Amino acid sequence: MSGEVLINLTPMETRVAVVENGVLQEAFIERSRRRGIVGNIYKGKVVRVLPGMQAAFIDIGLERAAFIHVNEVLPPEASHEEPASISHLLHTGQPLVVQVTKDPIGSKGARLTTHLSIPSRYLVYMPDSPHVGVSQRIEDDAERERLKALVESGKIALPDKDCGGFIIRTAAEGVGQEELFADMVFLQRLWQKVSERRISAPIMTPIYDDLPLFIRTLRDVMRDQIEKVRIDSRENYFKLKEFAREFMPTMESRIEYYPGERPIFDLYSVEDEIQKALGRKVQLKSGGYLVIDQTEAMTTIDVNTGGYVGHRNLEETIFKTNLEAATAIARQLRLRNLGGIIIIDFIDMEELEHQRQVLRVLEKSLERDHAKNKLTGVTELGLVQLTRKRTRESLEQTLCEACPTCLGRGSLKTPETICYEIFREILREERAYSPETYMVLASQSVVDRLLDEESAAVADLESFIGKTIRFQVEAHYSQEQYDIVLM
Ligand SMILES: [Zn+2]
Repeated sequence: MSGEVLINLTPMETRVAVVENGVLQEAFIERSRRRGIVGNIYKGKVVRVLPGMQAAFIDIGLERAAFIHVNEVLPPEASHEEPASISHLLHTGQPLVVQVTKDPIGSKGARLTTHLSIPSRYLVYMPDSPHVGVSQRIEDDAERERLKALVESGKIALPDKDCGGFIIRTAAEGVGQEELFADMVFLQRLWQKVSERRISAPIMTPIYDDLPLFIRTLRDVMRDQIEKVRIDSRENYFKLKEFAREFMPTMESRIEYYPGERPIFDLYSVEDEIQKALGRKVQLKSGGYLVIDQTEAMTTIDVNTGGYVGHRNLEETIFKTNLEAATAIARQLRLRNLGGIIIIDFIDMEELEHQRQVLRVLEKSLERDHAKNKLTGVTELGLVQLTRKRTRESLEQTLCEACPTCLGRGSLKTPETICYEIFREILREERAYSPETYMVLASQSVVDRLLDEESAAVADLESFIGKTIRFQVEAHYSQEQYDIVLM
């Protein structure tokens, strides 16, 4: 397999595409506006101690001073012991290395802690703690033990043996020794850099920023067989190179600057593929297609044959379509980053051997997925059920919002339905107020229908109530919106 990563950078957003054998497999998008400062480490200065609140204000170089409570200043072991006073721990003017735990909101400054931690893909590194812990969300006891043992033994092999503690993140489930150890080495190197900056950095400046997406990508995606990384920003190309030189030297030579005339996401039709990944329907080469529906509870994928299928080769055509669908589904799950429960309705196959082969291809294709997934079986109705770990937002959640016209239902009441609602409403108003005339404000399609197909019904209603009903198009009304004005 030949893999390539394309990075498209603008001041507003970072987009990363993972292409395998010329086909887009994964897309990551990060908007600059949504990035907070949680996790950043600063060399701050105490500006005010508040003994009454057992807290202090720290200047970290932001507009507003940040807030720290006494519990967040003490070493973790000491916090259970006799309550220390903030005035013993901190004094005005004192430099203090702190990490942000909560973004500043409105007039409130950021919240801080001195208990530092740095995340990587599988681990969180805690320089001030000796412990190894496992995320509660990994439930399997044997797996927890396995991971803990791997990290404990990894610690002994690290260049700096009393290096602090680790928390094993949920993403580590099922991950091997080599990957975990690579993460540990990475974190320890990163921490060395931070420690150096702790001393050398001027006061009230950041000494560690959570890595931006384009660098995290290098850290997370790169351990696979990626041959080339192309990035379309010259400035960040140098940053990426520098990062690789320090932390992943074997990668450095594979990073290239893309100065191309064509937008970088025109390569391999990445831009088109992202657009397609937001649609419900996925066309298959064999003529069949998938229909993907994402609801809150689960994602359902329906496999269909396209158009006319001859009688003679029916089973063969269905088998071929299902095989192609199995590969396409695995790709769509990654590309759309769909998580949770996924139900696939393949086209019914009579031959057991065909069923087995389709499942086998699905399983095989899912192996390439970085997100943990599990085929949980075939239901009585022949539905294939699987789960896929939710990591971040799906592509749709990142790029879209619920449609305000249909409120996310995906369908609208027909003009006919709205016309009949209007008739009922007029009858109700007539009984209550009996005004002289009625004016109906509605969308173009509803007014058109009232004046055409429903004109006889309107005439009947007018003679029944003995009043005139007038209509007016409101261009900005959606199809379901209307008002009845009494005059
Ligand atoms: Zn809609």
